[in-house]
Amino acid sequence: MVKQITIISGKGGTGKTTIASSFIKMAHDHIAVDADVDAANLHILLNLTTIKKEDLIGGAVAVVNQTCINCGKCEELCRFDAISGSTSDIKIDTLKCEGCGVCQYICPAGAIELKKDKQGEFYTSDTQFCKLIHARLNPAAENSGLLVTMVRSIAEDIAYAENKKLIIIDGAPGIGCPVIASLNGVDFALIVTEPTLSGISDFKKIYKVAGFFNIKTFVCINKHDINDKNTEAIEKFCASNNIQVIGKIAYDENVPKVLAAKNYIIDYTDSPAAKDIIQLYFRLEKFLYE
Ligand code: SF4
Ligand code: SF4
Repeated sequence: MVKQITIISGKGGTGKTTIASSFIKMAHDHIAVDADVDAANLHILLNLTTIKKEDLIGGAVAVVNQTCINCGKCEELCRFDAISGSTSDIKIDTLKCEGCGVCQYICPAGAIELKKDKQGEFYTSDTQFCKLIHARLNPAAENSGLLVTMVRSIAEDIAYAENKKLIIIDGAPGIGCPVIASLNGVDFALIVTEPTLSGISDFKKIYKVAGFFNIKTFVCINKHDINDKNTEAIEKFCASNNIQVIGKIAYDENVPKVLAAKNYIIDYTDSPAAKDIIQLYFRLEKFLYE
C-alpha cells in the first residue's frame, strides 16, 4: 500500500518547498512529485537526470482556414460564444472554444479543423534520493489541474511497479485547480503556514479545501518565533478545529542563502530551522510508513 502526502500552503514563499525537499532527502522507499506545475522548482534543488519526457496534449480547439466564405453559420451555432466576426474575418477565441466540433460539422466550405495543442511537458527524473515526476506548463496554457493529475498518475504507476511505500507531493500554493488536483485521493495533507495576518487568512482558506477532501491534515508553523501572538492564534484555531500542529520551525535567516546555493538546510547542524524540520519529519514518519 502506497501512502501519499501533499505539502501545501495558502500562498507561495511559506517554506513549503524547503520542507518538501528536506522530506525527500530524509524519506526512504519513496517517489517525489512536484505538483507546482505553474512554477516548478524542486527540480532545480534536486540534482537530477531526466530519463523520460512526454508531451501534455490538451483538448481540441477549432481553427479556421482561408476557404471560409463568411457565411456566419458557425458563429450562429456555437453554443460557447467562441466565434465572432461573421461579416468580416471569422475569429475563434481559443479560451472559449470547448472543441465540441459543431462548427466543423456545419461549415459549408470545410473551413474549420479541430486541432490539439501541446500544452506542456512532463518528466520522470532520477535524483540521488528517489525518482522525481515534474512538469512544465506552456505559458498561457490552462490545464494545470490536468497536468498535476497526470504527474501524480505516473508517480503512482512507478510507486506500485517498484514497490515503493510513499509519494511526497510538493503541492501548488493557493487554492486553485492544481491544489485540488494535488489533494484528491491523498492520505495526508501538511499545511505550511506563517504567523502573519495574511498567512493566517490563507491558512484558513486552504484548510477548508483540505477539509472538503476529508484528508488527515497536519499543520506546521514556519518562522513561528517571528510573531508569538499570531502563532498562538493559529494554534488556537487548530485546537478548536481538531487539527494537529505537528511542528513549529524557527526563523533562520540562512535558509534563503542555503537554498540559493542548492544545498539542504537539514545538512546545517547548527541551524535552528534544520533541527525543527528534522523533528517534524520524524513526527510525521510514523504516520507515513505505518
Ligand atoms: S468547436 Fe464548438 S466551441 Fe469550438 S468554436 Fe466550434 S462550435 Fe464553438
Ligand atoms: S461556417 Fe465555415 S464558411 Fe461559414 S463563416 Fe464559419 S468557417 Fe466560414
